[in-house]
Amino acid sequence: MLRKYSSDISDDDVDREILLYGWAHEIRDLGGLIFIVLRDREGFVQVTLPKKVVPKDIFKYAKKIKRESVIKVVGVVKKEPKAPGGFEVIPNVIEVLNEAEVPLPLDVAEKVPAELDTRLDHRYLDLRKPRIQAIFRIRHTVLQCIRNFLCDEGFIEVNTPKIVSTATEGGTELFPISYFEREAFLNQSPQLYKQALMAAGFERVFEVAPIFRAEEHNTVRHLNEAISIDIEMSFTDHEGVMNVLEKLISKAYEDVVENCEKYLDWAGVKLDIPEVPFERIKYDEALEIARGKGEDIPWGEDLTTAALKKIGEEMNDFYYIVDWPTESKPFYAMPYENEPEISKSFDLMKGWLELASGAQRVHKYDLLVERIKQCDLNPESFGFYLECFKYGMPPHAGWGLGAERLIMSMLGLKNIREAVLFPRDRQRLIP
Ligand code: ATP
Ligand code: MG
Repeated sequence: MLRKYSSDISDDDVDREILLYGWAHEIRDLGGLIFIVLRDREGFVQVTLPKKVVPKDIFKYAKKIKRESVIKVVGVVKKEPKAPGGFEVIPNVIEVLNEAEVPLPLDVAEKVPAELDTRLDHRYLDLRKPRIQAIFRIRHTVLQCIRNFLCDEGFIEVNTPKIVSTATEGGTELFPISYFEREAFLNQSPQLYKQALMAAGFERVFEVAPIFRAEEHNTVRHLNEAISIDIEMSFTDHEGVMNVLEKLISKAYEDVVENCEKYLDWAGVKLDIPEVPFERIKYDEALEIARGKGEDIPWGEDLTTAALKKIGEEMNDFYYIVDWPTESKPFYAMPYENEPEISKSFDLMKGWLELASGAQRVHKYDLLVERIKQCDLNPESFGFYLECFKYGMPPHAGWGLGAERLIMSMLGLKNIREAVLFPRDRQRLIP
């Protein structure tokens, strides 16, 4: 007998016997009638046991089933408008494959609410909730779409090292590890390697991989281990990669709307496909909005969270903040030739949340060395990287897009931890 998912039961199955596997989500014992709601990964189905109809031993056995036990049911499908999905199953066989202990550390049926910390401590149970599982079914679709889209655009997928000897951008946000007799670090970004691959002649590469940032502070948008979607592209500028990025975002929304109707419903989310091109505002304009609302930020500095919240009030959909001060961006961002204090850089925003950062890159050796020095970094620690610029480096540009930030903004999640199966933050290393 073929196994059926709850969502696959149809009129064709009425009066036929089917096999179901799942979890005992809810059990209601009304004396002469027992309802078991079986939950599988596609939804719910009601298993109905009228005392007068099912064999005595099955009825007695069902009375003892504990919530969240793994069960197998073989039974006959009947139409039942009052049941979820419109069908019920009258069992000929019920078997507990693995019994769940009592009490549960977390209520999967959500009759008792739980704090995020408790939920994350027992994440495997939390993930059983359709509403939570939906986030990861949608995340899967988004990542699949991104891979397909970039492959169709001629990008090839690469993997670069996550154990490295120097910081990508300097700074202190690094996790040191011991690497035999040396100190090494977990990489904070694939930046230097993506650029090396431009010198290698691949022209278009992408990577979907973890980045590690030793950010001390706890915020709702920072993780210490995140997944970054990175591209690098030759013979183009910042505008070229911004076009790729906005088309990609719009396509990801389209794919989710088309393929994830059920999961959007579980997550309680309605999506509109964003129109391209996205609006572009200059850093100076963004600064003006923030200053107009009482945020006193000196020109040249990064925009604070408070400032971004104020700007986000005016611009609530997707938009780019472009033309950042060169001093506010990493050394590899290309300054405008006629106005070197401004760089060919951008952030992709949704409301107040930064989703991606990108730029045309400096591809001239001398300028790069100068920029590294200006950023108080030592060119000697960039040996392998700098060599790539000496023997034929094409002009190029790229960006890094945070996968969790994208999912967070798409589904309106209040905390980025909701978009990760097993988040890593300042406090959390387990599970
Ligand atoms: P922020 O200013 O929000 O801390 P950033 O400018 O330091 O981010 P980038 O170095 O520009 O981050 O990284 C590119 C993208 O990677 C970001 O736009 C974001 O989507 C994602 N990202 C970076 N750091 C984190 C983090 N700690 N947690 C989650 N996502 C991150
Ligand atoms: Mg950034």
